[in-house]
Amino acid sequence: MKIMVSACLAGENCKYNGGNNRSEKVLQLMEGNEVILVCPEQMGGLPTPRVPAEIKDGIVTARDGRIVDAEFRRGAEKCLEIAERERPDLIVLQPRSPSCGVKQRYDGTFTGTLTDGPGVTTELLIKNGFRVIDAEDLDSEGF
Ligand code: SF4
Repeated sequence: MKIMVSACLAGENCKYNGGNNRSEKVLQLMEGNEVILVCPEQMGGLPTPRVPAEIKDGIVTARDGRIVDAEFRRGAEKCLEIAERERPDLIVLQPRSPSCGVKQRYDGTFTGTLTDGPGVTTELLIKNGFRVIDAEDLDSEGF
């Protein structure tokens, strides 16, 4: 099986604060499978560490007020290009991220409040017919 994975889930230090979201469950799933790691925010040209961002009224905005929508959407397009070329059987992404979130994301107020809806990369991948699973749902999805 070919799997595309948020790089931070595999332990890469690409998270906004320079850390990662290493998941033993994801690492287990990666074993014996072909893996493509992606970090759309880095691929969109943003540095690590970087100012955290949330989607506010449909526009990705950093906590310092800077609009980073173009960078986020560029990263999403690059992920889509890779997905279209590699045709992964499964895509596993990091929950609640403004890029990789699947079911929920933060609401743009920077108060830790969640709202329903995907991140910009997930939204684009789903729109183009790819199956995307929240890393927290791997068990319930039978992986
Ligand atoms: S953009 Fe995705 S892969 Fe990159 S750090 Fe954020 S959640 Fe992880």
